[in-house]
Amino acid sequence: MKELTIVSGKGGAGKTSVAASFAALARDKAIADCDVDAADLHLVMEPTIKHREPFSGGSKAEIDLKICSSCGLCRTLCRFDAIDKDYKIDDFACEGCGVCADNCPEKAALLIPRQAGELFVSDTRNGPMVHARLIPGEENSGKLVSLVRSRAREIAENEKLGLVLIDGSPGIGCPVIASVTGVSLLLIVTEPTLSGLHDLDRIASLAGHFGIPSAVCVNKFDINIEMTESIEKYCAGKKLPIVGRIPYDTLVTKAQIAGVSVVEYSGGAAALEVSRVWKKTNYMLETC
Ligand code: SF4
Ligand code: SF4
Repeated sequence: MKELTIVSGKGGAGKTSVAASFAALARDKAIADCDVDAADLHLVMEPTIKHREPFSGGSKAEIDLKICSSCGLCRTLCRFDAIDKDYKIDDFACEGCGVCADNCPEKAALLIPRQAGELFVSDTRNGPMVHARLIPGEENSGKLVSLVRSRAREIAENEKLGLVLIDGSPGIGCPVIASVTGVSLLLIVTEPTLSGLHDLDRIASLAGHFGIPSAVCVNKFDINIEMTESIEKYCAGKKLPIVGRIPYDTLVTKAQIAGVSVVEYSGGAAALEVSRVWKKTNYMLETC
């Protein structure tokens, strides 16, 4: 079984648009939306949720004031100043380290697991999909990404599907590391801007660090040909194969508004190029 993750250094470069088109073009795959902080693949996949489960990202302390003797030990020990003078916990400051619970002489301080999000397993017109929602402000998105990936892998194994197609997390932090480590191939979608080149460099360095085979495609290449050429020069220097140049096409936005991928919506210029990008990416997948 192969795993393909589609990433970009930040949101808005066209990563999810490409992922949605690949979901329509690839055969025998499970889909994993690992962009759990700002999931939007479901907007064009129309998932029918078959299973949902709470995700507990960690724990927070709670103090039972009926038992608490106000000895003050927990306040002295808490390194995060999360306990106020009335022994109320500041949820944002509490790191869930458990020191207060471990040392409370009255057993009044407890560590309580908190729901940080929800995981969904759905059917879509293009195959099974695992996706999730992280409650705003909650942490541990890397852990949730790992869970989404592992559920999608389980489905692919059980249903004998040859591919897990992953819409990766943006950035280069913990969630994106969780969505790229150990995959067969990384497709980096970039845009022809200075920040696009900067983001590409960061994600390519990350991929190089983990030894992940990578390819690049430039989205909306024709909005800045000069910068597209700079990106291609950068890729040549890093021996990163370019699998396509997707043109700017208003049909991409129209497809999004219609709730489908561009390859399902039109046979226009972007749709044709995305189909070509898929063929080249699939060839690389088969040979890597
Ligand atoms: S250590 Fe326990 S008993 Fe003492 S103030 Fe904290 S919660 Fe209350
Ligand atoms: S769990 Fe740790 S961070 Fe949270 S209140 Fe207790 S000692 Fe402070």
